[in-house]
Amino acid sequence: MTATPERFSCGALRADAIGRTAELFGWINRRRDHGGLIFIDLRDREGVTQIVFNPEHPSFPMAEKLRSEDVVRVVGAVRARPEGTENAKLATGAVEVGIEQLEVLNRSEVPPFQVNAEDDVDESLRLEYRYLDLRRPRMQRNIRLRHRIVKAFRDYFDERDFVEIETPMFIKSTPEGARDYLVPSRMNPGTFYALPQSPQLLKQICMISGFGRYMQIARCMRDEDLRADRQPEFTQLDVELSFVTQEEVMQMMEGAVAHAWRNVLGIDLSAFPRLTHAEALRRFGSDKPDMRFGLELVDASARFVTSEFVVFRGALDAGGAVLALRYPGGASLSRRDFDALTESAKLFGAKGMVWIALGADGVKSSAQRFLDDATVEALRADTGAERGDAVLLFADARESVSSIAGKMRLEIGERCGLRDPAKFSFCWVTEFPYLEMDEESGKPVPAHHPFSAPMPGQWDLIDSDPLAMRAQHYDMVLNGFELGSGSIRIHDVELQKRIFTMLGMSEEEIEDRFGFFVRALRYGAPPHGGMALGIDRIVMLACGEENLRQVIAFPKNQVGRDVMMDAPSPVPERLLRDLYLRSVAPSAESAR
Ligand code: ASP
Repeated sequence: MTATPERFSCGALRADAIGRTAELFGWINRRRDHGGLIFIDLRDREGVTQIVFNPEHPSFPMAEKLRSEDVVRVVGAVRARPEGTENAKLATGAVEVGIEQLEVLNRSEVPPFQVNAEDDVDESLRLEYRYLDLRRPRMQRNIRLRHRIVKAFRDYFDERDFVEIETPMFIKSTPEGARDYLVPSRMNPGTFYALPQSPQLLKQICMISGFGRYMQIARCMRDEDLRADRQPEFTQLDVELSFVTQEEVMQMMEGAVAHAWRNVLGIDLSAFPRLTHAEALRRFGSDKPDMRFGLELVDASARFVTSEFVVFRGALDAGGAVLALRYPGGASLSRRDFDALTESAKLFGAKGMVWIALGADGVKSSAQRFLDDATVEALRADTGAERGDAVLLFADARESVSSIAGKMRLEIGERCGLRDPAKFSFCWVTEFPYLEMDEESGKPVPAHHPFSAPMPGQWDLIDSDPLAMRAQHYDMVLNGFELGSGSIRIHDVELQKRIFTMLGMSEEEIEDRFGFFVRALRYGAPPHGGMALGIDRIVMLACGEENLRQVIAFPKNQVGRDVMMDAPSPVPERLLRDLYLRSVAPSAESAR
């Protein structure tokens, strides 16, 4: 052997490398013994290359002992695969490497699941052996796409003179909606830092500090009950600008996303449609509408004002509404199918559902007696339904019926294959109500946070009708997921205090929780605004994945545990003592 080997990745070799001597490092993806030869698929992050061992070669006995996930270095001649054995599915499928040197760099125990197969492996096992799971091509692709999206964001903001400023992880506890994670201070007995739920106040203080344009890929922690699409810690693209209008912030953020989509996914996005919060609820029954498809909610109340159908009349007389939805192709559903659909609606809170099937052989309905031809025709025209479709009707108080119909719209979209993960439909939702009712406490709380400015000219509503107040608050939505929120902030200290007071905070409490911020506002705070977008969610949707754990290298499981490291875990008594803490076993009461 004379040629000096050239180093290649396992995904690099093509026909034009034939005749060269290649050096490759990687993991044994698969070993096959075939007609006296040994074939090895060698894998690294770039791909897979076939290595061939002849029985005469001195490394043959060593190759016979290679097992999945052993780590090797090989050197060999790149040659064309024999005719008929090329693999068009593999980027390197035209060539193979004839072994010249084999060096075993490390051995692997038998992995608890097959790394080389994309088959379904129990997720708890994947998370426990995350390092093996991450070796799989799908996870490699996701994590690398994540890197590229984050880099695209950084580049975009850098080109526009934003400064990335790292805000601290140990901050003051000023809990809002969610609970803070607390860190006891050993040096200041009895006191605690909080981990940031978001760098909100610090980024506003960066504006008061005169930086003008701030961004950060920020880690945030919220001690909330976990849901399928939530992690206790997450990453957001956090942005703040001075001397801006809402329009300018929205343009900037839309530009950032368009930049990432173009540069990372090769997709040109058109301008994001905009809806006010009220319009989103009216048309889609949701403040995060999935705009990949139409099938909008239709207010059919007017069709039933004189109806004898007590359920509808009852809802209307009580000030509620009747909403109609088109179900394309729904006429082919059996009665039993409609019953099942009604059960889904009930899960969403519906008291019932009326269906009308516009079949080729006539109209059938669960409320046939109460529907005359004229009403059916009117409903058909209102919803744009055609022969072969069904129309579904729901009645209730306005807010509930809109939310129920909104969820049923998604259900129909799903059934009709209209929620294609490869399609990206962004939109903006604006003019959010300033306050919303907190279900637990029954008290009004800010829909966003108490630092957002009300819509121009609405300050007076604070005293007269706070629930009618709207905020300069905007959400970016993609395919029915909220990607993030932003707002124009309050920069006037007196107005900020009025909001705190409206929320029921005493002077003392304001000073105790937000004294530092209120003081900062007194020293020439510029008008400012910003936004934060959830990176995990953006990457999840960009990857076409359905759960956040698929795009986070080391996520927590559904109950907030890291099962690879086994965290959280108990700590020795001594460590607690140093922190002036004692662990109290949860009582039956608090565990509930
Ligand atoms: N800090 C807010 C959040 O984390 C976003 C913002 O207002 O910029 O939701």
